[in-house]
Amino acid sequence: MYRTHNCGELCNKYLNQDVTLSGWIHQIRNFGSIFFVDIRDFFGITQLIISKKILHTDFFLRKEYLIQVKGKVLKRLSRNYNLYTGEIEILVSKIDILNKSLLPPFSIEDNTDGKEIDRMRYRYLDIRRNPIKNNLIIRHNLMLEVRNFLSQKGFLEIETPILVNYTPEGSRSFLVPSRIHMGKFYALHQSPQIFKQLLMIGGIDKYFQIVKCFRDEDSRSDRQIEFTQIDCEMSFVKVHDVLVFFESFIKHIFKTIKNYEWKKKIPIISYCDAIKMYGSNNPDIRFGMKFVKLNHIVKENNINFLKSKKLVIGIKIKNIDDIDNNLINFLLKKINKKNNFFWIKCLIENQILSSNNVQINQNFSKFLIKYFKANPGDLLFVSYGEKKDSRKLLSEIRIEIIKKLSLKNKNNYEPLWIIDIPLFKWEKKEKRFKSVHHPFTKPKDEDLHFLSINPKKVRSQSYDLVINGMEIGSGSIRIHNKKIQNLIFQHLGFSLKEIKSNFGFFTHAFEYGAPPHGGIAFGLDRLISILLGGENIKNFIAFPKNNEGEDVMTNSPTFFNNNIYN
Ligand code: ASP
Repeated sequence: MYRTHNCGELCNKYLNQDVTLSGWIHQIRNFGSIFFVDIRDFFGITQLIISKKILHTDFFLRKEYLIQVKGKVLKRLSRNYNLYTGEIEILVSKIDILNKSLLPPFSIEDNTDGKEIDRMRYRYLDIRRNPIKNNLIIRHNLMLEVRNFLSQKGFLEIETPILVNYTPEGSRSFLVPSRIHMGKFYALHQSPQIFKQLLMIGGIDKYFQIVKCFRDEDSRSDRQIEFTQIDCEMSFVKVHDVLVFFESFIKHIFKTIKNYEWKKKIPIISYCDAIKMYGSNNPDIRFGMKFVKLNHIVKENNINFLKSKKLVIGIKIKNIDDIDNNLINFLLKKINKKNNFFWIKCLIENQILSSNNVQINQNFSKFLIKYFKANPGDLLFVSYGEKKDSRKLLSEIRIEIIKKLSLKNKNNYEPLWIIDIPLFKWEKKEKRFKSVHHPFTKPKDEDLHFLSINPKKVRSQSYDLVINGMEIGSGSIRIHNKKIQNLIFQHLGFSLKEIKSNFGFFTHAFEYGAPPHGGIAFGLDRLISILLGGENIKNFIAFPKNNEGEDVMTNSPTFFNNNIYN
């Protein structure tokens, strides 16, 4: 028997019992005739007392050696309150080395000195550390909770194929050559989109799947080339039904996994308003700072250099503690621009300080201070120019400020639904429309007539769930009518022939009484990272890829070696 107990369970209840433990050596403290050794396994750490007398002369112990010990549970003289096992220690009578270890390339501690590259190369050692191990445990709990919740609500988990034909879902697909059908390729699915819709046509009322998806795009701190979705679809639903149901879902997850409760209803705002208010389609709304349009004020005050600008907008950043202008300098460095903005800082006793990149008249500055109801310590940032540019600039400022503020506010969550997202975006380079979500998204009925006049104006029946500025879920009501689906494909540049050969099977299925349906997919990696403090998603994936899409441990991708393959 390797062990009678694990390294995390012994306490006063077990005093004087003979036990056997197995684990890795975490710490060794040498006190001459005895060693104090901490031994660690998945469950925790236990302190051992090993007398040198019981060791052979050539016996050698080192961190990460895997040992088995037999001994007696004793009460500790001074209790360690940081450990569950802190009230006992084991007086060891026999010790065996189960496996030796090389010196690890970094310390296996909660706060490791390991560089990211080493942690990735030796990920199995990184997983021995509590922060990564605990993330994997919580990930497991989250998946379990998702499965239980959705199953109880009548969703069926159904697996769909991963080797599929390419479908245009907005990203590049990975291709896999077929051995049997020389010259032909499968694509790895980007999501189960088409198949989950076919399940609805197949009469499955509600579907879900926790599923790996693959997209050949640049990785980032919040994106991996292979990632996990909680993919869902429901029949006979409209936008409202989906939002109501998945609001209860996400609230349940936050309550059970994080013990965090949202009392309020999740606000719903249109894409267009999100852009106008925050300059972003996934805004972080925790700290307010909505854009305030100032064009009419500029006119009233006859501010010449601003009067002709398409858009003049400003934000108030409350109570910045910035005596030496450090924050302002930091922001200016980040945005790296000299024009089309100015700032005004509100000091005590009616004093103001403003940027010197433009000449701002004092009266106007004071007027703005009043208009924004700014108090001493507040900072106003104003940007102007073309609509898109001025929003972009102010949004950058807003995001940088939020990054600073949110460090203090990790456990405050502000979700929101973004709806009425445009159906198409114009791709300048390719000179054609692309779907903002994917081609199966249903246009809003009242916008259908724009399809032939001005496709850019068509809004879709889609929705994104954004939490603290991160897109956590995205979905839509789907087209279930062959004619409309074909029309959309045509707008995306597919010829009738291409539509027939690539999607004929799919649109044909619509002709067999396809039910109205819609759904959503949540990014599981992102969801868990935001639940646990918004860190890099790599910390929540057992074996992640780096930002270049490489696994530096297994050295993938690799050159193709025909000998091995055969
Ligand atoms: N398949 C979509 C995606 O992966 C999600 C959905 O529309 O349900 O983004």
